[in-house]
Amino acid sequence: MGKRERVYLSVEEMPKYWYNALADLPFELDPPLNPQTKEIMKPEELEAIFPKPIVEQEVTKERYIKIPDAVLEEYAIFRPTPLIRATNLEEYLETPARIYYKYEGVSPTGSHKTNTSIPQAYYNKISGVDTLVTETGAGQWGSALSYAGLKFGLNIEVYMVKTSFEQKPMRKHLINLFNGKVTPSPSLDTEFGKKMISMDEDNPGSLGIAISEALEVVFTKKNAKYALGSVLNHVLLHQSIIGLEIKKQLEKINESADVVIGCHGGGSNLGGTILPFVPEKLSNDNIKFLACEPKSCPSLTEGEYRYDNGDTAGLTPLMKMYTLGKEFIPPKIHAGGLRYHGSAPIIARLKHEGLLDAVAFSQDETFEAAKLFAKLEGIVPAPESSHAIAGAIKEAIEAKENKEEKVIVFTLSGHGLLDLTAYS
Ligand SMILES: *Cc1c(COP(=O)(O)O)cnc(C)c1O
Repeated sequence: MGKRERVYLSVEEMPKYWYNALADLPFELDPPLNPQTKEIMKPEELEAIFPKPIVEQEVTKERYIKIPDAVLEEYAIFRPTPLIRATNLEEYLETPARIYYKYEGVSPTGSHKTNTSIPQAYYNKISGVDTLVTETGAGQWGSALSYAGLKFGLNIEVYMVKTSFEQKPMRKHLINLFNGKVTPSPSLDTEFGKKMISMDEDNPGSLGIAISEALEVVFTKKNAKYALGSVLNHVLLHQSIIGLEIKKQLEKINESADVVIGCHGGGSNLGGTILPFVPEKLSNDNIKFLACEPKSCPSLTEGEYRYDNGDTAGLTPLMKMYTLGKEFIPPKIHAGGLRYHGSAPIIARLKHEGLLDAVAFSQDETFEAAKLFAKLEGIVPAPESSHAIAGAIKEAIEAKENKEEKVIVFTLSGHGLLDLTAYS
């Protein structure tokens, strides 16, 4: 084969188990705390907002978790996803590094989020839930959950960060196409939303506020549960399918990764990408994990490592993470999916232990990287994913300076065809 390598797996080769890195990591995560009492939270307490199978996955230490057949069938609509060598980008950069990207934009809603929305809808359905309520930043999660809700017969209600609702009307149409109901947040539906609006009529919203609104609705509605698109252990578990496939694909072409990269909002595509490489990381420290985030919302690079709430009102459990503070309202950048004040506890702990590096890029840097990538590789990246491209370019330039023939792998978490106004 020439240099232009595209590595596909057949549906039969798709992983049948998710991988749980908590089985192998040499530390215990700090437990979530009850937001009122500050006591260690019992798993049962989480059952107020999540169905039992999800709570079990949140706390399990089992290494491999079987993917239900109904979920595998839905995955097979778009998985396995391709691993593609970015030959044109390599040549443009004149780097001796080989750059591969895992393309998650082939999913029904154009991002990795369906990897977890599908199992979450499935587990809620078999637990007797009728309605799932959630928040969404740029609309990626809202559309992914609406799609999954449609597949498994659930009502989906989405609180969408107001600035994205206005900047990205296409996502709202996609949510509606899949029968989801979408409301801009802060809204007048909830007491917390009303409070936010009364304090500032022009509140642009944030993921933290939207989560608070979604939770308030769950607490007042019958047979309703909450679904979160990132941050939590079970979400990273579902996303491990990304890294598991990458490993099989690299094996097929006799490559092994030296640097593994993902953009970081709440940590789900990054976690899904790097966590399956944890055994390699622990046995051989040459493999580097790199998180790429926006300079305007730099939770891993500038946040504090401490307990904080996942939402603005303080309704979620307290989790140990890198945080910019739950009141932090990020500026209106186009990478709406990265506008989150916190991080996944697993990702935060990896960073804290020195097992994960993090780098922040400005919006201009990431759009330059995105435009270059679109022209060279023929895929318009989501503004979020562009951070990972910027990270891969940085690594490739360093490889050139050091004359190093390394293998760089990054996840292109989604396409940006619904984000063209941001490009313009
Ligand atoms: C939501 C989203 C992100 C950020 O979320 P993570 O949980 O950090 O992965 C990144 N890329 C795309 C395309 C997204 O939709």
